[in-house]
Amino acid sequence: MNKIIFPNNTLFRIVRAVHKTHTVLFKIKANVTGTVLLTQNFFMMNDLRSYTISELKTILASYGEKPYRASQIFSWLHEKRVSGFEEMTDISKDLRQKLSGDYCIVHLKIAEVQSSKKDGTKKFLYELHDGNLIESVFMKYREWNSACISSQAGCDMGCRFCASGIDGCVRSLTAAEMLDEIYTMEEYTGEKINSVVVMGSGEPLLLLDELLRFIEIITADGGKHLSQRSITVSTCGIVPKIRELAEKKLQINLAISLHAATDEKRQQIMPIAKKYSIAELMDACVCYFEQTGRRLTFEYALIDGFNDTGEDAAELADLLKGKMSHVNLIPVNPVKERDFRRPDGEKARRFKVRLENFGINVTIRRELGSDIDGACGQLRRKRKKQGSEYA
Ligand code: SAH
Repeated sequence: MNKIIFPNNTLFRIVRAVHKTHTVLFKIKANVTGTVLLTQNFFMMNDLRSYTISELKTILASYGEKPYRASQIFSWLHEKRVSGFEEMTDISKDLRQKLSGDYCIVHLKIAEVQSSKKDGTKKFLYELHDGNLIESVFMKYREWNSACISSQAGCDMGCRFCASGIDGCVRSLTAAEMLDEIYTMEEYTGEKINSVVVMGSGEPLLLLDELLRFIEIITADGGKHLSQRSITVSTCGIVPKIRELAEKKLQINLAISLHAATDEKRQQIMPIAKKYSIAELMDACVCYFEQTGRRLTFEYALIDGFNDTGEDAAELADLLKGKMSHVNLIPVNPVKERDFRRPDGEKARRFKVRLENFGINVTIRRELGSDIDGACGQLRRKRKKQGSEYA
């Protein structure tokens, strides 16, 4: 956090100037001594697309406007996807001016797109308005298109095999930014996205409120109107947040990054495992299933010689037996900075068959985009390194 001291009477003008240009994103808090603390967030939160319809109603009521205006504006933002307030032609000029004085609509910039020649997968590197970079992936399946989006720029979870966490987390994304990852992909590809996985960089349950706002907006009638069942959220296992999410009784899919069946092994590759044991994690998963009726998915990155033996399969089956679950095996994506290797195809298939013999539902994740910067966070890291070399 930067700490800057302003004379009090300049505060208002500085806020307005910053707001109007949308170039610097700070939260301004004046404390008793007139010191101003600037933190990233305030203006990002002010993107009007981050607000649910009921929040828009409250905003509009504060301008003395009728509630139906909220649906009109919501549709301009999320269905017609205007780039500025001036395009909202059935909204009075006076209201548009008020809105643009207090809120903004800020779009992601496409920094790079890599397209797979094999299967139509496209990896997007986006620049956020504060210069941070994030990645999203557009995936083409036979019957539908899917988007894998990031929830944070970087990640603090420190999983040993993951490229996103190498430099830590810079900040969380707003609902508007997560939505814009999808909107920009749809605009660029000219194709409709039918399902969304929050499995890019970041730990989405650490920004649960913003994630819930994102889910409410993207599923709302009058916007993209995606069904909750078309959304999957992946977590490394923040136990209290899984329980909090369960209480919302949503119909979204929850994926748990498990990757090892014992605490001892999991702790070697996932620092979060030192905070929450597998037993606590499983209890939270049972709670999620009881509250929502939704089957959970367990992600298991197969790492050669580490978690891919017959004994590992037996331990995993033991952990999941009798639970409504599905295991997604992902042969680990090699990351340049790490020395994990994936087992060969035959070994991966053997692991799958062993689980099946124990009665576990299991698939090996189909690999998409293998000819482009594969592992999560690789493209962003490459660009960041180039940036620092040229700086
Ligand atoms: N923080 C969340 C979501 C982001 S990671 C989570 O942990 O689930 C999305 C998924 O990709 C997780 O299952 C993660 O463990 C997996 N992953 C990350 N790096 C990987 C790699 N190099 N190979 C295979 N899977 C990887």
